[in-house]
Amino acid sequence: MSYFQPEFQATTAAVRVAFGAGARHRVADEIRALGCSRAMVLSTPPQSDTAMAFAEDIGPLAAGVFTRAAMHTPVEVTDEAVRHVAETGADCLVAVGGGSTTGLGKAIAYRTDLPQIVVPTTYAGSEATPILGQTEAGRKTTVSDPKVQPEVILYDAELVRSLPVAMTVTSALNAMAHAAEALYAQNRNPVSTALAIEGLQAFHDALPRVLTDPGDLQARGETLYGAWLCGTVLGQVGMALHHKLCHTLGGSFGLPHAETHAVVLPHATAFNARAVPDLLRPVCDIYGGDNAGLALHRFARKVGAPLALRDLGLAEADLDVAARQATENPYWNPQPVERDAIRALLQAAWAGETPVH
Ligand code: NAD
Repeated sequence: MSYFQPEFQATTAAVRVAFGAGARHRVADEIRALGCSRAMVLSTPPQSDTAMAFAEDIGPLAAGVFTRAAMHTPVEVTDEAVRHVAETGADCLVAVGGGSTTGLGKAIAYRTDLPQIVVPTTYAGSEATPILGQTEAGRKTTVSDPKVQPEVILYDAELVRSLPVAMTVTSALNAMAHAAEALYAQNRNPVSTALAIEGLQAFHDALPRVLTDPGDLQARGETLYGAWLCGTVLGQVGMALHHKLCHTLGGSFGLPHAETHAVVLPHATAFNARAVPDLLRPVCDIYGGDNAGLALHRFARKVGAPLALRDLGLAEADLDVAARQATENPYWNPQPVERDAIRALLQAAWAGETPVH
């Protein structure tokens, strides 16, 4: 059966994507194809060696290297990077890393409109969206702007081989969460649904193989394919309860991004499966069983994902505040969001229990 809907709207960005082991060596060609000649290479501090290797690889096309990207895109780091870009006369950006590095590239592009080439090394999927989240004085704000959408994405399985197993698992569940919420998004369309299902299928098939052999390039490539699909739907349709809960837990309690997504996903999915079991049916078709939340919980256990918010450092005393914050501003969700039910969901997620369904 196709995913056709009688009425829908869809917006897709013009992004060039290349997949393949060794795709990172295409960077020089891609810089020239953009009409550019001076690239600023970006990374986090732990990935500075990789950034230096990129600069060496592109030789005279490198204008400089900036290796201070940080989680949640602090504005003061962006300001420093923008100054560095101006001083060096860089005319394009090459971001090598996970969502933090991609976020820095997007933040610079938002202010300068420089074109971006992203070489992702996690499954977060930020490279496929026009969304920028940034923090200033501890407050996180989000903008969506076509200037923020990277022009070129190079998915190179060789680079993601170094992603530690624990991060591989949480990053994969972070990506799968975009697809799970896309299935019931209010503004979903047949193409976003098809992409979401294919993304969920890719992680289902490839993640266990990556865990058996983290160096398996075929399986790593397939998980990157899943990341691209899941990131693309994140950029196309609106998210709901799951992302709201993770945003609250990350923003107000400092919980780590990917791990929080991994813990919350089965619970938020079970909660929404009460309202839209048919829309979440593809999750059951792929992951087994007849409840999408329980199916994801079983998969999370199987791949060794963290299961409890308490293990991520959240105090039980914070659950009341978290439930209040996650329900005080109305937003669309297939199952009505009311405080007692969210408090119960958070309690189960905090304790690492089977999702309430
Ligand atoms: P990250 O980019 O912060 O990476 C985590 C750590 O892993 C870093 O120290 C990084 O250097 C290291 N790392 C990354 N890839 C590695 C590899 N292959 N080998 C070894 N180490 C590696 O984490 P993330 O989960 O990718 O990104 C999280 C950030 O991305 C958050 O700030 C989140 O809000 C943002 N995000 C934004 C969007 C969007 O559309 N705007 C989408 C998803 C995530």
